[in-house]
Amino acid sequence: MDLGLSGRWALVCAASKGLGRGCAEALVKEGAHVVITARGAEALEATAEALRSLNPAVQVRAVAGDIATPEGRAAALAACPQVDVLVNNAGGPPPGDFRDWDRTTWLAAIDANMLTPIELIKATVDGMAARGFGRVLNITSGAVKAPIDVLGLSNGARSGLTGFVAGLARQPQLAGRNVTLNNLLPGAFDTERLHKTLVAGASKNGLATEEFAQRRKQSIPAQRFGTAAEFGAICAMLCSAQAGYLTGQNILLDGGAYAGVF
Ligand code: NAP
Repeated sequence: MDLGLSGRWALVCAASKGLGRGCAEALVKEGAHVVITARGAEALEATAEALRSLNPAVQVRAVAGDIATPEGRAAALAACPQVDVLVNNAGGPPPGDFRDWDRTTWLAAIDANMLTPIELIKATVDGMAARGFGRVLNITSGAVKAPIDVLGLSNGARSGLTGFVAGLARQPQLAGRNVTLNNLLPGAFDTERLHKTLVAGASKNGLATEEFAQRRKQSIPAQRFGTAAEFGAICAMLCSAQAGYLTGQNILLDGGAYAGVF
């Protein structure tokens, strides 16, 4: 199926690695031009080169910077001639005990995982509406549906974004102009971030990392971790021309880990 993304411009935040990179790869394969961001310039440039070789017909621009800062966002937006597709992403907040978190810690999490996507949405959706096409996809977390105790910063900040998006997506001046906003909720995906949490979890439980990872996989009905390529493919589908009637949704991609009906 032609997803109707050829020639569109996509801004994919936090995309030198992991899920963001998976989204950029899928969009590039569908013929979209992309602007990708990350803080580390070296890995970002390497990813940009890999994307160019996936589809030499598209433009790939790499903007090094922290997307959670006003300067980082301004540079990313300036590099994108028009934003038809916005994939919001940033590193997740650290785990811990809420008794140890002060106001500064909370503000950093809220800045990166709630206010940054809202700022980028604010900068782009009215232009999308004027042109009659727009897709906003926020990478959040399965923890929005099933909060994880030690990820309180993530649970809190991402829930704030989720509530905000649920309201905004239903504005007729957006939904009625073919601008959709949805959240994609990853469960366990095989990325650097997951690997770090596995190493930490294994050491806490006195197990080898591989043994701990096996147990974790066995707790997921799919019996494995997801891949960034699978995540990217769903992202491209949700950003497709065909997905114009799908908005304001929270789509869980977790191999069946969440056991609820809704
Ligand atoms: P990852 O493998 O660690 O990759 C994170 C990417 O984001 C890197 O390219 C990183 O590059 C970039 N990045 C991080 N902070 C940034 C910032 N402030 N500004 C610009 N770029 C930034 O992580 P991932 O597994 O793909 O996770 C992506 C998001 O999904 C995170 O918010 C994570 O919490 C969430 N999530 C992941 C999983 C999972 O199983 N993987 C599950 C639930 C939720 P630099 O470090 O160079 O900036």
